[in-house]
Amino acid sequence: MMDAAYHKAWRDAHLESRRAQDRAYWAAHREQKRIYNASYGATHPDKNAAAQARYRKTARGKIAALAHRMNRRADGKVKISDMRYVVDLYGGRCVYCDGPYQVIDHILPVRLGGKNNRGNLAPACQKCNGNKGAKTVAAWLNGAEGGAV
Ligand SMILES: [Zn+2]
Repeated sequence: MMDAAYHKAWRDAHLESRRAQDRAYWAAHREQKRIYNASYGATHPDKNAAAQARYRKTARGKIAALAHRMNRRADGKVKISDMRYVVDLYGGRCVYCDGPYQVIDHILPVRLGGKNNRGNLAPACQKCNGNKGAKTVAAWLNGAEGGAV
């Protein structure tokens, strides 16, 4: 017991120098650190899942998760910074119905040549996004079927 208390007191007293040592160590071992970080999730599945679940509940995490999903499908990459920009721009509301946004819509669908830049992205709710599908806004509002412009 004494030993444990002694060690704890020593650790507390040397916290700053230990941190500096750690920083210096990892600065000199960046590659190992990268591999360690990359493999952490695999070796700590429970912690990783819980941490990810917590992160997804944050505004940043929600956008990152959406970007991850979009970037699996779309040609090219949607930048998280662009997604944050348009979500902020429209106050987190669906641009079509003003409900809370759930997804990021390509205003001109990728299938019709729409790009992944912020000028072509808009926050939307799932319902509007689903109804609009791969149509232009004009075609959607005019009730046109299919992907024809
Ligand atoms: Zn909507």
